[in-house]
Amino acid sequence: MAEHESLEFGKADFVLLDSVSLEEFMANLKLRFEKGRIYTYIGEVVVSVNPYRAMNIYGRDTIEQYKGRELYERPPHLFAIADAAYKAMKRRNKDTCIVISGESGAGKTEASKYIMQYIAAITNPGQRAEVERVKNMLLKSNCVLEAFGNAKTNRNDNSSRFGKYMDINFDFKGDPIGGHINNYLLEKSRVIFQQEGERSFHSFYQNVPIVSSLIVLIIHSVPSFDPSQSSINDGADFKAVADAMKVIGFTPDEIQTVYKVLATILHLGNLTFGVDGDTTLIENSKVVAVIGVLLATKEENVEKALLYRTVATGRDVIDKQHTTQEASYGRDALAKAMYERMFCWIVGRINDVIEVKNYDAKVHGKNTVIGVLDIYGFEIFQNNSFEQFCINYCNEKLQQLFIQLVLRQEQEEYHCNDILIPCFLSAWLQHKGIFSVLDEACMNVGKVTDEVFLQGLNSKLAKHAHYTSRKLSPTDKSLEFDRDFRIRHYAGDVMYSVVGFIDKNKDTLFQDFKRLLYNSSNPVLKMMWPEGKLSITEVTKRPLTAATLFKNSMIALVENLACKEPYYVRCIKPNDVKSPLLFEHERCRHQVEYLGLLENVRVRRAGFANRQDYPRFLQRYKMISEFTWPNHDLPSDKEAVKRLVQGCGFEHDVAYGKTKVFVRTPRTLFCLEEQRDEMV
Ligand code: ADP
Ligand code: MG
Repeated sequence: MAEHESLEFGKADFVLLDSVSLEEFMANLKLRFEKGRIYTYIGEVVVSVNPYRAMNIYGRDTIEQYKGRELYERPPHLFAIADAAYKAMKRRNKDTCIVISGESGAGKTEASKYIMQYIAAITNPGQRAEVERVKNMLLKSNCVLEAFGNAKTNRNDNSSRFGKYMDINFDFKGDPIGGHINNYLLEKSRVIFQQEGERSFHSFYQNVPIVSSLIVLIIHSVPSFDPSQSSINDGADFKAVADAMKVIGFTPDEIQTVYKVLATILHLGNLTFGVDGDTTLIENSKVVAVIGVLLATKEENVEKALLYRTVATGRDVIDKQHTTQEASYGRDALAKAMYERMFCWIVGRINDVIEVKNYDAKVHGKNTVIGVLDIYGFEIFQNNSFEQFCINYCNEKLQQLFIQLVLRQEQEEYHCNDILIPCFLSAWLQHKGIFSVLDEACMNVGKVTDEVFLQGLNSKLAKHAHYTSRKLSPTDKSLEFDRDFRIRHYAGDVMYSVVGFIDKNKDTLFQDFKRLLYNSSNPVLKMMWPEGKLSITEVTKRPLTAATLFKNSMIALVENLACKEPYYVRCIKPNDVKSPLLFEHERCRHQVEYLGLLENVRVRRAGFANRQDYPRFLQRYKMISEFTWPNHDLPSDKEAVKRLVQGCGFEHDVAYGKTKVFVRTPRTLFCLEEQRDEMV
């Protein structure tokens, strides 16, 4: 470990703890946090605790300190991990990935940005213009994605409401030549509903002035934003986003269309339906006119799409009128789908600009990749629904991968097969089960309700140790309602309400809306909705369910990560009040436990460069120290070894177990051997 990392800040690597216990782990974590040391290693994994204050550790001078250094030469830092990933990529031609995990507000997104900044800072010494362009685009893309994909939640003022995996491609010189972004499951329901104290996506507030000016007839006011949110400066952010979009190459028409989509969504929120006899009608029809203008389509087309759906019955095509309920459902689905589609389109446009161009692998050698994954952490809310289920499923997959990869790596390096697989591993639930019950329920002919889904779960998972519901455990007080079911995730028990699962999984958007948007005379909007080209009689395939799409994207993600050399950043949120001072012991302990950090330390220790029991160690090295040569008079061999190690100045790199001493890096071992050689 870095010699200059004094022990007064605690152990810089958890593997150096005297004993691997939760108490020692927590004490070290707390001590370091309180001393302003927010990073600590477990081998090559960096554990980070959100400082909730500006730290002066990301500047140019710090970057210089880490550039090209080995992990143990400097105090623990994100930059060291980024550098390790970069070196592996450059020297060994390996594709690497940096997986950042932790719960909402733990600091994942900030970490991903520092990592990217570091990589940008240490590359392209030759100042090649094309590389500078790519770097600039990669950095600017964050700002745009955050505007459209992040929102203020009760946990985090800038919470990412989508998962992001970004590949950065490097040429043979190790300079960035392009990249690609994959986005996962945007929480689109936020467009129409937010929990108390939360907001919709930043974009709606940042763009208030423009969006308002676009609104030809102001029917209702746009959602007011709360100026007391001092941490969010919508006006300033707006400028930065508008600038970033321009730099990335969004055309003025494209940017205008984005504003129009935002305005349309706000207007849809004001639209209400009523009945007159048998007829469903729109109560505030002026809104429809505005939407018609915004979407560059005829008012009557908008009205028709909102009130009717075209159905094919045999050879006939008829217009079937919606009930008010169906019409409201359609309106909300339209708002959500327009936002989601726009978001994906924005990601696609960024990808167009940053994709690797003009790179011939035959001439220049393989282009290598560093992937950075910043994806939503485990979530337990008051009210947990389909979204939380998907998010928690994703975290289970990633945790599983973490264990597999960390174990695999250690085993390859040290050929130790005697490692105990952490017991929580065996506790994994096959969530595939739940997704398939959900899909089955959605395919049901006849009744398709949330209750049918719950019945399916109850019958399929009745015996599963990690599933229960009100019906299966009627005396369980925590299952308050008939609609509740509970799953034991690796990170804790989560109660889900079955309400809405079916709708969210089917994720139906009436075809009529797709055709409406495709037929817009705004070419940008049209481009976002290519499937609207199909007429009613051509649409036959049932679209894949949201669960299936999500599951498939997770499988692809895990496969992609598994073939890369992984580096991990494990983020911990020290408290729930965004305080830089508070280390809430219980909160932190829970995270340490479910992230499996203690198991991580154990596995890592098993993979130490050297482990020997005390007598053997003394036997080999006792000639180095006057205290141990030829025999020691200390109370135990352990004490004697401590004395010996201290004398050599290696205590920063050695841990003392019950019966064994652990030497962390081969370098220390070499030094010991050298000193021994000199003596014998
Ligand atoms: P997550 O992505 O895990 O939900 P964020 O990365 O958005 O969390 O972090 C939440 C907030 O915590 C940030 O907006 C910032 O205020 C603070 N924060 C996180 N990491 C750091 C850091 N390294 N230094 C200072 N503040 C941080
Ligand atoms: Mg985030």
